[in-house]
Amino acid sequence: MGGRIAPDLRLAVGAFRPVPGKGPRDECGVFGVYGHPEAARLTYYGLYALQHRGEESAGIAVSTGDRLLSHRGMGLVTDVFRDEDLARLQGPHAVGHVRYSTTGSSTLANAQPIVVETRRGSLAVAHNGNFVTARAVRARLEDEGAIFSTTSDTEVLAHLIARHRGGGGIEEALVVALQELTGGYALVLLTEDRLLAVRDPHGIRPLSLGRLGDAWLVASETCAFDTVGAEFVRDVAPGELVMIRDGHLRSRQALPAASPSRICVFEYVYFARPDSNLQGRNVHAARKEMGRELWREAPVEADLVIGVPDSSISAATGFAEASGIPYEMGLIKNRYIGRTFIQPQQGLRAQGVKIKHNPLRLILEGKRVVLVDDSIVRGTTIRHLISLLREAGAREVHLRIASPPYRFGCHYGIDTADIRDLVARGRDVEAIREAVGADSLHYLSVEGLARAVGTAGYPGSGFCMACFTGEYPVPVDEKAGKFALEARRHAP
Ligand code: SF4
Repeated sequence: MGGRIAPDLRLAVGAFRPVPGKGPRDECGVFGVYGHPEAARLTYYGLYALQHRGEESAGIAVSTGDRLLSHRGMGLVTDVFRDEDLARLQGPHAVGHVRYSTTGSSTLANAQPIVVETRRGSLAVAHNGNFVTARAVRARLEDEGAIFSTTSDTEVLAHLIARHRGGGGIEEALVVALQELTGGYALVLLTEDRLLAVRDPHGIRPLSLGRLGDAWLVASETCAFDTVGAEFVRDVAPGELVMIRDGHLRSRQALPAASPSRICVFEYVYFARPDSNLQGRNVHAARKEMGRELWREAPVEADLVIGVPDSSISAATGFAEASGIPYEMGLIKNRYIGRTFIQPQQGLRAQGVKIKHNPLRLILEGKRVVLVDDSIVRGTTIRHLISLLREAGAREVHLRIASPPYRFGCHYGIDTADIRDLVARGRDVEAIREAVGADSLHYLSVEGLARAVGTAGYPGSGFCMACFTGEYPVPVDEKAGKFALEARRHAP
């Protein structure tokens, strides 16, 4: 007796090509509004601010007060919504989602928010993160006769809520469901008359509360509040369930909070926007401090510092400030590479077609360069960039990475590619240096990264660093990959 997936209001779906990217793929972004006459438009702008968290699909569901309307599609927020779509989504409460698929494939069926009908009414669910137990729970539900319409772990949650037989309404159904679904997540749910937001007990994925006049907002990152002119109120606490109904916010500790909490450190390293604050720590400031720590850990004689645009520029400026070595624009990035970009074939690549980055010979010729990057995943991009710098005349290239070697997969909502492809898997730092062609290489230590991000605003909190250390704060199902829910047999 699972929930029914409501029909989509827009059916046109184009073919999809993933964005060619250098790093781990972003995850998802969620945004919610309670009590604003332009809830859908606010959500549109909120999602636009969170676009970096997911470029594959976008969706908004609104409550008119007695029913839910939704619109979802493949592509960027600006591709999915036309003015007439937003005009049709009339209602004072809304929830929105941008997605990069961390569980399930990139199809419209897996786009969110998913909208289901339950005995308690309609429910829209927007989910950032992963339920590590989804595979086993889904297998049990299928054995009991449940039929699934998507390969997303979010639908497993919707089924559990729909099947809840006890009392206590939607809140209780959600809390009981989350006792089975462990992992790292931030969820925003909308019914006809209330908005709910909940964060996993370790606080792995971020989620914040904001206000705009009398309206309440929730968002994955605070940059979305700035975009719509809202004020940041506070972060949703690990394990906390926030419910907004009749204009009033209520909060309860729905699940016991882990101690210490474990926010994803990769949010600071790479995913989050530099103008966001996570747990009171500005992301740009944290990245600058990573650069300073890199200098302290591995100083080097050089003529200039450059950062791989865009996510590494903050760390590179921190390195430059601490070292006194001038920061320069050595690599120019084409900002228009999008998801429909056609990659050059081998012939043109061999002719030296420089699609994404162009080195500035004027700056680089004869120079000893410090190249700062946030992380290395497969190593192909950084190897290419180093060879571009050398072709442009750089005499030495000293690589400094603002995070430790990336050796383990993420099970909490980040797509890390196949761990067998990670350049640091099975290699020591000297072997990686050789593989990428740098003159020297240093990775920021785990301790240096923790110091750089700091926990001043949140004493007693810690970080998830599992992709660097292999120490997972929530036990994981090692067999569960991105497509775990698409296997023919879902037995654990
Ligand atoms: S494993 Fe890495 S990417 Fe995943 S939540 Fe932990 S720190 Fe973040």
